[in-house]
Amino acid sequence: MKYQRLRGVKDVLPDSTPVWEHIITKACGVFGMYDYRLLITPTIEEIGLFTRGIGESSDIVMKEMYDFKDKKGRHIVLRPEGTAGVVRAYIENNMGPKANLFYLGQMFRYERPQAGRYREFFQIGVESFGDATPYKDAEVIRMAAGIIEAIGITGSILNINCLAAEDGYYDKLKAFLETKRPHLCEDCLNKLERVPIRVLDCKNETCKKAVVDAPLITQNLKPDALAHYVKIKELLNSTGTAFVETPTMVRGLDYYTGTVFEFTTDKLGPQQNTILAGGRYDNLVEELGGKKTPATGFALGIERMAEVLTGEGKTVDLNVPDIFIVADKAYLNEGYGLLNKLRAQGIKAAMSFEGNSFKSQFREAESKKSRFVVVIGENEIKAGNFALKNMKSGTQQLVDFDCIVKEVKK
Ligand code: ATP
Ligand code: MG
Repeated sequence: MKYQRLRGVKDVLPDSTPVWEHIITKACGVFGMYDYRLLITPTIEEIGLFTRGIGESSDIVMKEMYDFKDKKGRHIVLRPEGTAGVVRAYIENNMGPKANLFYLGQMFRYERPQAGRYREFFQIGVESFGDATPYKDAEVIRMAAGIIEAIGITGSILNINCLAAEDGYYDKLKAFLETKRPHLCEDCLNKLERVPIRVLDCKNETCKKAVVDAPLITQNLKPDALAHYVKIKELLNSTGTAFVETPTMVRGLDYYTGTVFEFTTDKLGPQQNTILAGGRYDNLVEELGGKKTPATGFALGIERMAEVLTGEGKTVDLNVPDIFIVADKAYLNEGYGLLNKLRAQGIKAAMSFEGNSFKSQFREAESKKSRFVVVIGENEIKAGNFALKNMKSGTQQLVDFDCIVKEVKK
């Protein structure tokens, strides 16, 4: 019997995981600088958290949730996103009123699999609770930009918009969209009834054309929301954070109440060009049973970031050994001893223990891209030293242990 992975999921192989480690390490470094703390929440939650939290009319809830009944008949979901679970944990563990949190882990959505779109994917996200000021929005957006910079992705575009429309805007929008019915896709016709604003965000070209002249949300904002939005833009400018205002950007989740943002890249297809997205959601904590608490956050998709980096040829060799030990079969003990002494010195060392030919051991060292090789053969043992070969320059010298350590740490 031969098994294969399920459709839409993937194995991330050791060739690719260094890029993943790089992304996670850089993001965690930025979280440390901004004083955000790691929160780990379960992968499974009860379904109500998402139907309530993300919104019944969102694509995620309507068609993308992996849900099942457990052995006691409870209706469970593999989390499709991180925010609802973090909010639940924030309320349940009395973490308020203020908390700056980040999380990382797998999310599950039953989507049509394609490049950059999987049924199980990995997100790193941030949620900040208890601060309603525009400084917090600006800080969170600046932090997102800082992560993208630290990871080494260049040329991404920050799109921003504000979703705090004044009463009456949705009726106005709906009336406009009614006149465009013949040009809208089936999906949009459904959305027109329930969440007209989502029609603005359709990726279908004909729909995009049809909504060009739609009344813009940014020209119909509540007065205090407008002032808040203007201040955020001022703060972004003051920190040199370039952005583009995109009044048609609405995001796929129902909980956003204020400024939303997305970082897009032209390095992936048009259907999956968003690498990081988020926004302010001031009602969700209350909606899920907590005290009314302002909140803002974002999530980034590791797969898409990794695809951008590898597409640009930016490979990361995080776990390349410093030294590979090539030992004669008769001197495996000496090799093993050296291996452990090197590791105790904080040097990344590797060796294979089969006592194969020098040629095959050298081949292994090359395939691992080891920076140095240490050879232990009869000559070296007689001389009481090791032969250290620099694999880049090709130079070789007979040296003692201290000298190896010095050379490698140079
Ligand atoms: P999209 O518009 O691309 O479907 P989304 O609005 O559904 O994205 P969010 O729920 O905001 O995305 O998730 C944030 C990030 O997570 C996205 O910007 C993307 O990088 C990543 N992401 C979302 N869905 C997937 C998926 N199915 N596979 C891989 N990454 C994903
Ligand atoms: Mg989506």
